[in-house]
Amino acid sequence: MVSKSLLSDANRRLERARPDARISDEALARLRQPRSSLKVTIPVRMDDGSLAIFPGYRVRYDSTRGPAKGGIRFHPKVDVDETTTLAFWMTFKTAVVDLPFGGGKGGVCVDPKRLSVTELERLSRGYIAAVADAIGPDTDVPAPDVATNELVMGWMADEYAKILRKAVPAVITGKPLALGGIPGRSSATSDGAFHVIRVLGDELTGGVSEPRVAIQGFGNAGAQLAQSLADEGYWVVAVSDSSAAVHDPGGLDVTALRKHKSDTGSLADPPSGSEMDDPEELLTLEVELLVPAALEGAIHKDNAELVRAHSVVEVANGPVTGEADDILDERGVEVIPDILANAGGVTVSWFEWIQNRQGDRWTEDTVSTRLRKRMEKQTEAVRAIAGESDVPLRNAAWILALERLGEAMDATGTESLFGRSRS
Ligand code: GLU
Repeated sequence: MVSKSLLSDANRRLERARPDARISDEALARLRQPRSSLKVTIPVRMDDGSLAIFPGYRVRYDSTRGPAKGGIRFHPKVDVDETTTLAFWMTFKTAVVDLPFGGGKGGVCVDPKRLSVTELERLSRGYIAAVADAIGPDTDVPAPDVATNELVMGWMADEYAKILRKAVPAVITGKPLALGGIPGRSSATSDGAFHVIRVLGDELTGGVSEPRVAIQGFGNAGAQLAQSLADEGYWVVAVSDSSAAVHDPGGLDVTALRKHKSDTGSLADPPSGSEMDDPEELLTLEVELLVPAALEGAIHKDNAELVRAHSVVEVANGPVTGEADDILDERGVEVIPDILANAGGVTVSWFEWIQNRQGDRWTEDTVSTRLRKRMEKQTEAVRAIAGESDVPLRNAAWILALERLGEAMDATGTESLFGRSRS
C-alpha cells in the first residue's frame, strides 16, 4: 500500500533532512521537480500477429553532477509518478556514493511474464527506438531494474548501435560480458548492501552473536544477499517471493532454496523451512535485520507498528513509505536507506561506463575491491554525519546527498552571485 503520489511521499525525505543540511533554497527548489519527462508508446507485433501498444517512460530527474543514470523497469504498475520517483531516488543515490552522475529512470507498463522471449525482444528494441534521442553516454545512461536483465540490456545496446550505425557500449550498463559488460555487475547490489551491513555491524544488529535476518524478495539482490549473509554466519530465518514465504527459526538452507527457485521459478514447496500461512507475517518476525528487497511500499503506515526488527535495510527502492518511516523512527528502529543500501548496483554500473569509455576490460578483482572501498568510505561518511548531527542513519544519508547536490548546483550560479553582479 503506497500513498497517492509516490513523489510527494519521497519529497518528505527532503523535509526531514533539510534542517541539518547546508543547502540553498534555490537548489532545494530545483530538486523538487524532474528536469524532463518523456512519455512514449511502443507498438509491438505479438507472436499471434496482433498488435499491442505499451506505454513507456524515461525521466531525467537531474543531471547537475553528470549524465542521468538509472534503470529501466518492466512492470504492470509502471507509470509516470513511479518512474519520476525512482529517478528522484537515483539522483540522491548517485550523490550519496559520490558518482559523477545525476538521476534518471525508465520503464514500460507491461507484465513481462505474459510475453514470449521474442515479444520481449521486440518490446526492448521498441523502447530504445522510442527514447533514443533522450539517452546517450553523456546525457542519460540506462541499466537494468525490476524484471529487466543482461539479456534485455544486450538487445537494447544492439538496437542503439543500429540506430546510430556505430557501437556505443557506454550508452547502457548491465550488458552481457560479450557486449562490454563488466564482471560482478549482477551481484553488485547485494555485494554493496553486504558491505554496508558489515561496516555498520553492531549498530544494526545490537551486537548479538548470531543475528537473525528476514528477507522479503528472492530475486537477484535478495537471494544473493541471503547467501552472503548466511555464509558470514547470519541466521537467515525467513525469505519470500511473490508466491510464498518460507520460515525456519533455526535458519534456512539458503543454497537449497536458491537452487529450488532457479529450478522451479518459485519458493513454493520449499526444500528447507516451511511455508508461512500469511507471507506478510515475514515483515513482523522478531529478527535483528529485516531486508525488504522487492518493491516500493512494502512497509507502510498500517504494518510499521508491527515490525519487530532491530533494523531495516532497504535493498529495494523505496520499500518503506514516508509515514512508515516516521513510525519506525519513533519506535527506535534504524532504517538503512535504499540510496545507500542498494547503491552497489549503480556503482558497478559506473565502473562499466568507465570501462566502455576507455575501451578497456576490468577484472573481477578490480571491480570487487573498488566496490568494497567505495561502499566502506561512503558508509563511514554517512555514519560520521549521523554522529555529528545526532540524526538517524536514514537522515544522515539524505543530508550527505543533499549537500553534494547543493554544492554542485550552487557552483552553476546562485542568486547571491547574480545579485552582486547587478549592484
Ligand atoms: N536499477 C538499479 C538501481 O535502482 C541500478 C541503476 C544503474 O545501474 O544505473 O539502483
